[in-house]
Amino acid sequence: MKVDIASGARHILQTLNGAGFDAYLVGGCVRDLLRGVEPHDWDICSSARPEETEACFAGQRIIETGLKHGTITVLGDGEPYEITTYRTEGPYSDSRRPDFVKFVSSLEADLTRRDFTMNAIAMNLEGELRDPFGGAEDIKAGLIRCVGEPAHRFREDGLRVMRALRFGAVFGYEIEEKTARAIHQNRHILQHVAAERINAELCKLLAGEKAGDILRQYSDVLCQFWPELGPLVTLEQNNPWHCWGGWEHTIHTVEAASPELILRLAILLHDIGKPACKSTDEKGIDHFYGHPAVSAKLAGKMLRKLKFDNRTRERVVTLVEHHDIQIPCRDRSIRKWLGRLGPETFFQLLEVKRADGMGHSYELVKNRLTQLEKTKTKAEEIIAQGQCFSLKGLAVNGRDVIAAGTAPGPDVGQTLNKLLERVAGGEVPNEREVLLRLLRSDDGPSVGM
Ligand code: ATP
Ligand code: MG
Repeated sequence: MKVDIASGARHILQTLNGAGFDAYLVGGCVRDLLRGVEPHDWDICSSARPEETEACFAGQRIIETGLKHGTITVLGDGEPYEITTYRTEGPYSDSRRPDFVKFVSSLEADLTRRDFTMNAIAMNLEGELRDPFGGAEDIKAGLIRCVGEPAHRFREDGLRVMRALRFGAVFGYEIEEKTARAIHQNRHILQHVAAERINAELCKLLAGEKAGDILRQYSDVLCQFWPELGPLVTLEQNNPWHCWGGWEHTIHTVEAASPELILRLAILLHDIGKPACKSTDEKGIDHFYGHPAVSAKLAGKMLRKLKFDNRTRERVVTLVEHHDIQIPCRDRSIRKWLGRLGPETFFQLLEVKRADGMGHSYELVKNRLTQLEKTKTKAEEIIAQGQCFSLKGLAVNGRDVIAAGTAPGPDVGQTLNKLLERVAGGEVPNEREVLLRLLRSDDGPSVGM
């Protein structure tokens, strides 16, 4: 097989082979080459012991961070390449990491410890495969299958549950039946996995093109670390606006949004407060009054628990909180929301609202979707024309307010905000002379408010 191996990786394989050691590309890079996708990193495994690998690359930059597990990172072409000595792993008493690793001389033994057949293929410089578990066939068939007994492999390391789901969402592969059953049966193992590691896999999963399929089939797994999803998964919505229950609506909405993490998180959680807000009127119609605020609060808690960074959490919570607001398609309303949310969040909110619309009965919301498109175009024009919607764009600043007689302190900000509201509302032009005159007038800038 003719393959395009990065020159740095090629050089490493040649050096190790030249010194008499076996060396192969292994794991994600081989899988990606077979999928016809350019690998994003190149892992190498070798019969050379760590100190022998170091000797082979003496004089080159070497990073020893993974030495305990037999991994040496060599910098070639400015890129880091991980070289790992063939190893097997001892038992996993904590369902997280092996009690010990043991260096071995057999490539097969090393491949046996890997998670899925597609990740347990080795390739030499000539492009020849060592594929004892039929990984290449599984890649062709688009199947994710454990190496060995699935239940045992998931109990060894709970993170593999999330890795299977993530690969399923990103590659659009099916999870093979026995592997799938073992995931459902052993999902509780996730309680032993660190929140940060679940977080990393969940983020990749949500960005996957087939995230919706995985959410649909594996909500029970997600409920292991986010039990708050449970009531949404079973939520029925007897309401003419909705043609689906809470979870199916959420999935359609996720599928309709671009695969940006903040958007997808906000969408996954936008209705999480609905079950707590459900009421049914005398005609049997369900309502969810006040759910955005409840959703926002719950979403914040869930994101905190999974150790999302503050910026992501705050942005997602803002989007969830505002997902149901009406933004009239008028310049002044748009300027007001642009100012309150900032342009980036404003456009993300429009995207959340668009995707949310797509998760409803289409005939009923198509006018709303057209309005959203118009709002977006208008907002882009407002920005392109340099219209004022934030304090930064206002033709006067704090110094002007103080010069006009306001004492330094919180009053200055208040005065500026009042001016901004009037400018953004189209009541007065954003012209310095006009605004200065208003500031100096007896009534101050709040006239007419
Ligand atoms: P990615 O494209 O995300 O890098 P990857 O499969 O290369 O996918 P890595 O975390 O880089 O993922 O791991 C490299 C290889 O190490 C995997 O292909 C697999 O062979 C093995 N591996 C990684 N994590 C595990 C695990 N939890 N259990 C068993 N083997 C694993
Ligand atoms: Mg990798």
